[in-house]
Amino acid sequence: MMELESSGWDVIVAGGGNAGLCAAIEAAETGARVLILDAAPKPYRGGNSRHTRNFRCMHRGPLSVLTGSYGEEEYYDDLLRVTKGKTDEDLARMTIRMSEECLPWMEAHGVRFQPSLSGTLSLSRTNAFFLGGGKALVNAYYNTAEDLGVSVVYDASVGHVVIENGRFTGLEVDISGKTHLIEGQALVIASGGFQANTDWLAEAWGPAARNFLIRGTPYNRGRILRDMLDQGAESVGDPTQCHAVAIDGRAAQFDAGIVTRLDCVPFSIVVNRDGQRFYNEGEDVWPKRYAIWGRIVAAQPEQVGYAIIDSKAVNDFMPSVFPPETADTIEGLAQKLGLAGNALAETIREYNAACRPGTFDGTDLDRLSTQGIEPPKTNWARPIDTPPYFGYELRPGVTFTYLGLRVDRTAQVQTGNGPLSNVWAAGETMAGSILGEGYLAGFGMTIGTVFGRIAGQEAAKYVA
Ligand SMILES: Cc1cc2nc3c(=O)[nH]c(=O)nc-3n(C[C@H](O)[C@H](O)[C@H](O)COP(=O)(O)OP(=O)(O)OC[C@H]3O[C@@H](n4cnc5c(N)ncnc54)[C@H](O)[C@@H]3O)c2cc1C
Repeated sequence: MMELESSGWDVIVAGGGNAGLCAAIEAAETGARVLILDAAPKPYRGGNSRHTRNFRCMHRGPLSVLTGSYGEEEYYDDLLRVTKGKTDEDLARMTIRMSEECLPWMEAHGVRFQPSLSGTLSLSRTNAFFLGGGKALVNAYYNTAEDLGVSVVYDASVGHVVIENGRFTGLEVDISGKTHLIEGQALVIASGGFQANTDWLAEAWGPAARNFLIRGTPYNRGRILRDMLDQGAESVGDPTQCHAVAIDGRAAQFDAGIVTRLDCVPFSIVVNRDGQRFYNEGEDVWPKRYAIWGRIVAAQPEQVGYAIIDSKAVNDFMPSVFPPETADTIEGLAQKLGLAGNALAETIREYNAACRPGTFDGTDLDRLSTQGIEPPKTNWARPIDTPPYFGYELRPGVTFTYLGLRVDRTAQVQTGNGPLSNVWAAGETMAGSILGEGYLAGFGMTIGTVFGRIAGQEAAKYVA
């Protein structure tokens, strides 16, 4: 570890993911002395940002790898649809407008883009994909930051923000089992959500939260968020709101990233631990329904579901990272999945009897629907009758939480008594100011880039 100076810092950035790095780079470019503190060890640097693939970007004509155009009104309409209106229009529109100038800024600071691959072509107009994914983006920003003289300390968890008379003066930071006081003139908080803190999740979700898997970093535990809220910072967002999807139940508890997603649900039936179906698996095409299944599975006993398919369906979706369980009989499959064989067999018998003849089309809504069962399956309903049979365990995978710090257009953190004069926040930790509910693919990185840059500029201006 570098020899850490305990004072003399102009800008301290707490959290070294996308938002923190953008802030650090902007501040360092003005000549400020900048320190990044991150709770993770170096190999795990970059938080949830290292799992990302793209960001959503407004553009008036073709821009870098982005095709066509994507204007402010269309972008804002897309946001309104997913948030059901729960957004701050002023902050949202500012973020959207500023996303356009972010793309060239990102390229100028080391990020490389690539055209969408097949399978993501529907996003080629709206979302710019990072060459090498989020990990390459994070590494490029760390290189840029280090070239600018930014100091970085890993394994450094900020536990307390010292605030005196509405001003930040220093941080209490745990490093190698000791608490250090580190002083600076300005603070940027970019420490993500609290989804890796199971106790906090359980406060909002009840004991069910203990069975959730966390798709990203184990270090986003909301330590700074809690400390700031305890000290009177204003909160935004609902503690029970989070982005959660259904992922392979065998995924690691933390950090499994994007590869554990399962795309088999529309072609399967999904049963709970008791072998009972509980939701229309064929409601819509998977990208549109993907995000709701996290909550649906979370509402089942022990927060688990099982997707069952037969050999007719096994090639209709993107292959999974872990192979499915398989058997030549339903009872054999049930045994491998730990389900009661007779209950599963009875559910499948009833479902098969409700399937109607018709033409299956896995590429579009085919209206091949069941009749006379609850819940119905309204598309892609074919009998499960052709062995071998396959099964996947599904569990809720939390992407991030929405409760965060309220900020204004300058990213300044607000309290009941007005703004904190030298504290700014960026990224997931304030994203609830804009995303009250739902999620728009690629918008997390947009919010982090826009507000990270603003926070870094404002902090540097204050210091100057
Ligand atoms: C699997 C997955 C895929 C995703 N894909 C996309 C995508 O393609 N596009 C998109 O826009 N969004 C995506 N997201 C969401 C995206 O990751 C976030 O919106 C974004 O990374 C948030 O950036 P951030 O800088 O705010 O937080 P992070 O990148 O999570 O960084 C926060 C940092 O703070 C550190 N930290 C936490 N607590 C402390 C503390 N007490 N002291 C010091 N440091 C601390 C952490 O170690 C971490 O490094 C995805 C998320 C996941 C999990």
